[in-house]
Amino acid sequence: MAKTEYNPFENAQAQFDKVAKSLKLSSGMCAYLRTPMKEMHFSIPVKMDDGSTRVFQGYRCRHNDARGPGKGGIRFHPEETADTVRALSMWMTWKCAAVDIPLGGGKGGIVCDPRTMSMGEQERMCRGFIRALNKEVGSFIDVPAPDVMSNGQHMLWMLDEYETIVGARMPGMITGKPVGQGGSLGRTEATGYGVVYTLKALAEQEKIDLSKTTASIQGFGNVAEYAAKLYTENGGKVIAISCWNMADKKAYTYKKDSGCDIEELVSIKDKFGNIDKAKAKAKGYEILDGDAWLTQEVDILIPAALENQITPKNIPSINSKVKIICEGANGPVTPDADPLLIKKGITVIPDFVCNAGGVTCSYFEQVQCNANYFWSKEEVLSKLESKMTSAFLDVYKLAKEKKLDLRDAAYTIAITRVADAVRLRGWVE
Ligand code: NAD
Repeated sequence: MAKTEYNPFENAQAQFDKVAKSLKLSSGMCAYLRTPMKEMHFSIPVKMDDGSTRVFQGYRCRHNDARGPGKGGIRFHPEETADTVRALSMWMTWKCAAVDIPLGGGKGGIVCDPRTMSMGEQERMCRGFIRALNKEVGSFIDVPAPDVMSNGQHMLWMLDEYETIVGARMPGMITGKPVGQGGSLGRTEATGYGVVYTLKALAEQEKIDLSKTTASIQGFGNVAEYAAKLYTENGGKVIAISCWNMADKKAYTYKKDSGCDIEELVSIKDKFGNIDKAKAKAKGYEILDGDAWLTQEVDILIPAALENQITPKNIPSINSKVKIICEGANGPVTPDADPLLIKKGITVIPDFVCNAGGVTCSYFEQVQCNANYFWSKEEVLSKLESKMTSAFLDVYKLAKEKKLDLRDAAYTIAITRVADAVRLRGWVE
């Protein structure tokens, strides 16, 4: 990959190196954990509708499987790179370990733009991905899931191809499938609700009454919508929501001091999580700049849209009332912003705990598929809440004990769990 200003894999390695140093891991263990254990690059020839053949580049990376089979999504993106896949597979290892589910880290990708491909072309590409990779995926090897621009339909085509090759029904081989076809109830809500489960656990520890708090949110897609719903159900008031507007391709912040009506906003958003600006205006929302969500006088900020949103540059504009940031998105706070937020007295619930509800529910999907017995939505969500709460409390307690911020505490727990598993298996001292 060409060297760019921001290389996600170098970033992931730098984060690992920092914690590994403080844990005094052996040089062999550091060398082993800072690189993926297995990486596959392959070509996927696809017959296009016009009779031509296009060859797509595919990747799958298994960072570590000492604690269980690899787990992680398959991204469809025209600018997908091996380094992005490597970094994301490493973050998946830490995320699964931080919430203590028996899975390792994996990630995959295809360099493609599904928006420009017919359904038939997408299906043939998905089947080609599995033909190239069938020996390296499976319930007990590495379990893919949807990610950027891939969805439940793509997962089902991949499963069907896999089952045709192995000659058996193996629904636990992949997650994120539609409900009724091996998918789990509660998956749609899982990530956003998980954000609020960790927020509730923090509030309880810090004796904060959530029903007396206000929040501002960036994003109104899958994560943000369900976080906003559960937060308001817990009595909190969402004052502002920022998201993209399709008509003029700009972001806006929609504000109501009396509190946003989440159901009302859901009724005027499209399937990509973009609110219709004209309709919001008609419903009495104040329309502010896209960045205004960050400067509101609220207790809680929930960035749940994009990475690198809170940086040393815009930290001075965060209101002094803000006490908590919940990282619903992956990497919304840049590493150089972390110490400045601590100085400002803001507690950050780190992404790989805060937004781990999705992967935890994927794990539940796999368990249900392997047992061929499916749970009610209430059962899924109650198991999710208890898993997320106990994961957060482990991190919180360690942070207090060792005087660490929550991110370093979460990394310490995750890396220690993985290194212990690697050592116990006798792979590296
Ligand atoms: P999504 O595609 O459903 O929604 C994205 C939202 O971001 C939309 O509301 C869009 O309008 C908004 N947005 C885009 N550009 C914006 C801008 N410049 N300013 C303000 N808002 C903007 O995505 P999602 O599934 O909700 O994921 C959001 C984030 O959470 C991503 O970082 C994703 O990687 C992460 N995440 C998602 C899951 C999951 O299960 N969906 C799990 C873990 C992490």
